[in-house]
Amino acid sequence: MISFRCDCTLGEHKAPVDGYVIESGAINKVSQFVEKYSKVCMICDETTYQVAGNKVEAILNNTGKLYSKVVLPKNPLPNYETIGNILVHVTNPKNESDIFEYSPLPDLILAVGSGTINDSCRLVSYRIGIPYSIVCTAPSMDGYLSAGSPTLFDNTKATIKATTPKFVIADTEIMKDAPWDMLLAGIGDMFGKYTGILDWELARDYNQDYYCNKIANDVIDATNKCLELGYEMKNRSAHCIKSIMEGFVVTGLGMAYTGNSRPASGAEHIVAHAWELEDVQNGEKPNLHGLEVCEGTRLIAEMYMMLLERTDDQHLKDLISKYVPYFKKVEEYCVKMNVPSPVKDANRIKKSILKALTMRDRYTILFYLNDRGLLEEYANEATDRLVNRL
Ligand SMILES: [Zn+2]
Ligand SMILES: [Zn+2]
Repeated sequence: MISFRCDCTLGEHKAPVDGYVIESGAINKVSQFVEKYSKVCMICDETTYQVAGNKVEAILNNTGKLYSKVVLPKNPLPNYETIGNILVHVTNPKNESDIFEYSPLPDLILAVGSGTINDSCRLVSYRIGIPYSIVCTAPSMDGYLSAGSPTLFDNTKATIKATTPKFVIADTEIMKDAPWDMLLAGIGDMFGKYTGILDWELARDYNQDYYCNKIANDVIDATNKCLELGYEMKNRSAHCIKSIMEGFVVTGLGMAYTGNSRPASGAEHIVAHAWELEDVQNGEKPNLHGLEVCEGTRLIAEMYMMLLERTDDQHLKDLISKYVPYFKKVEEYCVKMNVPSPVKDANRIKKSILKALTMRDRYTILFYLNDRGLLEEYANEATDRLVNRL
């Protein structure tokens, strides 16, 4: 458990996390982290087994803690099939229990992977009451410490309540070799914190929402670090990967501390979810979450820039102005690094902005504009401005 006092209205923040390590060679610390467990079930897929699972297996074997291992087929999706697969294997007793073994079930699920593996394991963990932890293989999305599992079912995608990992092990030497688009998706997901935190500030001042200054500042500092080191991604620099992973941990802990996802997401995430949902409903595989969030960030930033040009509200102008340098740097980065934008159809983007307003009851710039009858006008113009640059 991590906890500290804070001068926000919550007074104290807590997260049910024992610890994390983000460094080169971090995988060797698996033995330290599993010390208090005796029966570890390792879950990975064919790809993540090659990337890190085989090393984790060797460490667990050396310490005598490997209870069972599940290697899922390549590229699993976060659906009932994957979740069922994990559930059936985790609860499969290795041996007949005897008088020396109190429970035939493992006492820790150790996931090795990124999005799907992490999301599915934490859901199983929550449902059967066995703690889980994660050895990360790609810095591709901000959900390592989230307490919800985005899951595909019945032709739709919804986030199901789950649990957070006990510990997170991120070996930058391993993660830097992740597929290129996954690296860009990771930094793109972090860029979303700029619009996300600005939305949170907007909600504080125009909707009387709860806000924690310390957590918001920590998230912005972590995002700035990603931006500062972002161009080093070209060389797959471990420093750059570390900054992204640290950003994920800071925002993930921020979510646990505040009990909501404000520190990680705002309108950019809701628009990205609208695109993702459309793909799922059309039977298509969704794009990488972070790439959609990155495009959503550029779109929402554009709407904020328009608002800055047009509003007479000095307080709002001051608020947005703080973020303008970040927005400009993000835009420059995306152009220079050729970050893919998954959605290019202007009509689809315009519609998704209006849809995003109805998808989540969270006060963002979309609500601010809608309350003033300006949403459609801004959606149309911001989309055209963005699409012209893609
Ligand atoms: Zn606080
Ligand atoms: Zn995200």
